[in-house]
Amino acid sequence: MQSTKPVQELDPADVSAAEGRRSAFLQAMPVALLDLEDALPGIIATAPGSGRTKLRRIYGLMDKISVVRREFVACAKGCADCCKMNVTISKLEARSISEITGRPFADVADSVQHPTDAFVGVSCPYLVNDVCSIYENRPLACRRHASFHSSSAWCKPEMLETEKVPLLQFGGIDQAFIELSTEKRKLVLADVRDFFPA
Ligand code: SF4
Repeated sequence: MQSTKPVQELDPADVSAAEGRRSAFLQAMPVALLDLEDALPGIIATAPGSGRTKLRRIYGLMDKISVVRREFVACAKGCADCCKMNVTISKLEARSISEITGRPFADVADSVQHPTDAFVGVSCPYLVNDVCSIYENRPLACRRHASFHSSSAWCKPEMLETEKVPLLQFGGIDQAFIELSTEKRKLVLADVRDFFPA
């Protein structure tokens, strides 16, 4: 597959506005939610329940953060640009989706790292008519993804390599997710299409 080169640049004013929205979101985050995010690795490590149950707790916190984030991002139902690029999920997530949907998943043995443009324009297997068919059970990567730009321009395939407003880091959520997804001392991450090939 050929590398995707940028065919246009983002307007510097738009980038600046997006950085402003990103900062405003961070300021709008309730302290209690920030504290909960920091404490999440310990909570998940000691909480009872299956991996799937704990996964839902991680998703739940990410969703609460997303509610605060909503007014600062371009993301909305019907925009599926982020479903047509690389989507990295863990084997635990693949197993969970498989159990819920009944669709078998490929038992990927080792992590797979693809070039950043490997799946440009390739729909996620769970995208139906530009709508996520497993929305309530979508992976963490899908819940984390957001564009602070005023439109979905940043998510267009041709913009992949352009200057962009950096994604937010969620230290507690990421740590909890990685630790939970590390099974028998092994973490397997791959694209959703590796686990669910067409
Ligand atoms: S799981 Fe759903 S939200 Fe995530 S990439 Fe696939 S269709 Fe999009």
